[in-house]
Amino acid sequence: MKKHVVIVGAGFAGLELATRLSESLADGVRVTLIDRNDSFFFGFSKLDVLLGRRAPTDVLLHYRDIAKAGVEFPQETVTAIDPARRRVITDEGCYDADFLAIALGADYDPAATPGFQGGGFEYYSLAGAERLRDVLAEFSAGTVLISVLGHPFKCSLRCAGRWRRRPARTHRGSGSRGSSGRRAPSRQRQGRNARRRRVRGERGSR
Ligand SMILES: Cc1cc2nc3c(=O)[nH]c(=O)nc-3n(C[C@H](O)[C@H](O)[C@H](O)COP(=O)(O)OP(=O)(O)OC[C@H]3O[C@@H](n4cnc5c(N)ncnc54)[C@H](O)[C@@H]3O)c2cc1C
Repeated sequence: MKKHVVIVGAGFAGLELATRLSESLADGVRVTLIDRNDSFFFGFSKLDVLLGRRAPTDVLLHYRDIAKAGVEFPQETVTAIDPARRRVITDEGCYDADFLAIALGADYDPAATPGFQGGGFEYYSLAGAERLRDVLAEFSAGTVLISVLGHPFKCSLRCAGRWRRRPARTHRGSGSRGSSGRRAPSRQRQGRNARRRRVRGERGSR
């Protein structure tokens, strides 16, 4: 009998997992992917809404259009999870799983920053991107303060910033391998080695 995988939350993580299971284990598992919404959108598409390039309805990807073998998409709200029994309760019913994956994402808490809700704008939600789009259309002059309000960051762009620095390290660390199979030293290391040789040479010649 097929194992039942229940995934709660059809965002990035839930959709990716369901897709992989469907593509690699469709004969062995059936998947129930539960989300309270009828559609998904990429975080970065909110920039297009904010800049007035696309309407919110144009960036929505409806779950009904995503057909994956062995995956069901009930549109329900999860109200409780019993991890010990691998049971999920929704506003419509109850699901028992052989494997349970929880991918409910993170909620925003704009009220955590005093004054922000009354006087600021966010574009973490589609509605927020629309509001900001309309305000920017009216804006002609003045000071715009852009702020990251604190940890944690939902958007992994911060990680992207870290990764940007990485290739240099990775490149240096992995280096290219010569015919001996040993890593070629990085430029920095070559410089360091040359300095050491010079120092040794100077000492040796004394
Ligand atoms: C403006 C913006 C730009 C971004 N740009 C990038 C980018 O360029 N690159 C990048 O890697 N990341 C980006 N991100 C971040 C990315 O969107 C998140 O990291 C990612 O969405 C997290 O995936 P997740 O599956 O954990 O959660 P989510 O994608 O948030 O999915 C959670 C899902 O759970 C559902 N859900 C929650 N509670 C319930 C419930 N009780 N019942 C039923 N369903 C529920 C929600 O409807 C949602 O579909 C951006 C985010 C924003 C806001």
